Amino acid sequence: MIESLLIKNGFVFDPANKINGERMDLAIKKGVIVESVNENEAKIIDVKGKMILPGGIDIHTHIASQHVNFARMLFPPSSDEFLFTAPKVGLTYSRMGYTFAVEAAVSPTKALHTHLEFLDIPSLDHACLLLLDVYWYLLPAVRKKSAEEAATIISWLLESTKTYGVKLLNPTGSEMWSLKKEITNIEEPIKHLGVSPLDVIKIIAEANERLGLPHPVHIHPNNAGKPGNYKTTLKTLKALEEIKPNKKKRTIHLAHAQLHSYGGNESIESQAEQIAEYINSHPNVEADIGQMVPHQTISLYADNQLLIPTSRGKKIFTDQVELEAVFGATPTEYKMDKTGSIMWATGLELALKVKDPWQIQLSVDHPNLGLITHYPQIIGWLLSKKARDQVKLEADTPLHSINREYTLYEIAIITRASPAQSLNLPNKGNLSVGSDADIAIYDFNPQTQDPAQETEALIKALSQTLYTIKNGIIIIKQGEPLQKPKGKTYWAHRDGINLPEKVKIEMERYYSLDINSLKTPKEILSNSQEIKY
Ligand SMILES: [Zn+2]
Repeated sequence: MIESLLIKNGFVFDPANKINGERMDLAIKKGVIVESVNENEAKIIDVKGKMILPGGIDIHTHIASQHVNFARMLFPPSSDEFLFTAPKVGLTYSRMGYTFAVEAAVSPTKALHTHLEFLDIPSLDHACLLLLDVYWYLLPAVRKKSAEEAATIISWLLESTKTYGVKLLNPTGSEMWSLKKEITNIEEPIKHLGVSPLDVIKIIAEANERLGLPHPVHIHPNNAGKPGNYKTTLKTLKALEEIKPNKKKRTIHLAHAQLHSYGGNESIESQAEQIAEYINSHPNVEADIGQMVPHQTISLYADNQLLIPTSRGKKIFTDQVELEAVFGATPTEYKMDKTGSIMWATGLELALKVKDPWQIQLSVDHPNLGLITHYPQIIGWLLSKKARDQVKLEADTPLHSINREYTLYEIAIITRASPAQSLNLPNKGNLSVGSDADIAIYDFNPQTQDPAQETEALIKALSQTLYTIKNGIIIIKQGEPLQKPKGKTYWAHRDGINLPEKVKIEMERYYSLDINSLKTPKEILSNSQEIKY
């Protein structure tokens, strides 16, 4: 194993350190960035004229869960094309220079499965988010409006399941669906639960901050994909304005914001402007985009209201275990028809209208709205108005009146520095001395090539790194995997958490499994990384 590495003469983009394409050398020793190395002992790579970024971070993806696995089994040809087998997930991310990904939907009972699957995904550090949108054992705390009690239960669940943060997905929507109803007013209590969707969101978001968890509450608001849903999104965000941040800058993470930014009545229209304006005036909010790219896929969902109506006549899988989150999968095709054109334009409009890129992260909700392999193309559209204008649309959109083009520095923010900040990972998404040596080197010369004009060359470069370096090890060289190291599992940890006796008795009574089976042993994790909070 090479102990030290010296990468010479690259153009470095490292927004966390305000480095904007400067030509510099990077020294690496024992897996981390250091001030300098002994040139006689180090392996030297000269990357003159090439572009260097920290390893990419995908803040919202679906790559490891029982849910993904059922979908792989039910739709076999798609496993490799859309869902990707576990080893291919690792290889695909690392070929593009990504080194960290967040699995965004895991229910408590199924967390162990996700961890076992992570073992089969090489070369990618990872974390997962716990779905708690209608978790029955939290509801008494919500009814009492006790964020403190909710916080203790959440803390116990995160510790047991070795998960990193809290996800709320169409909160209480699965309960309403089982009553053959849909949520129309998020402030209206659901009779048999005694709480409204907004009560659940408020108490859990507050509990999230009380605990000082590393990541803000990750919200997929109610009414995803529906015409006019931007009002629900804004109502949700406004209800959370009073929550005091604990340690972090942001208190709310809006997931795949594109899907929650629609106006219209019968059909969708873009209201990206309204959502972007709100984000621009509220520094406590951040959003991953959820860019739609036309493609055939298998949609993975935990939101009945969103996808069951579109699955008629198609193969579908759906399940719910222990009355936790509902999961499902069905084939979907996103086309550039009228609706598709608006979805496509809404995502880009949002990314271009939010002024501060530190409040944005690039995502496609893989494999739903796009595939991870679409990231280079999306970056091309953000960097080049010319490339955007070449896309044929079936609808009028305000997108073509936007002249803004992202810079490479801003791309490094939305794909590296901003997600690292959102996840509170100080050693990721930057190239500071002491940080993990996770590095992507691309065959693109930012001094002589203009990304707004030479977009195809940039897309090609971003699709396959010259080198991907993970913890100081060269794992990809010109697309070829050299090594496949185990990824690290990041999870949120706190000592001395006990489940309140009353909750424990309830769980023991109503869970059909022993509640100890919710516990993922630390020993089985792929290289456990406890993040204390
Ligand atoms: Zn998702």
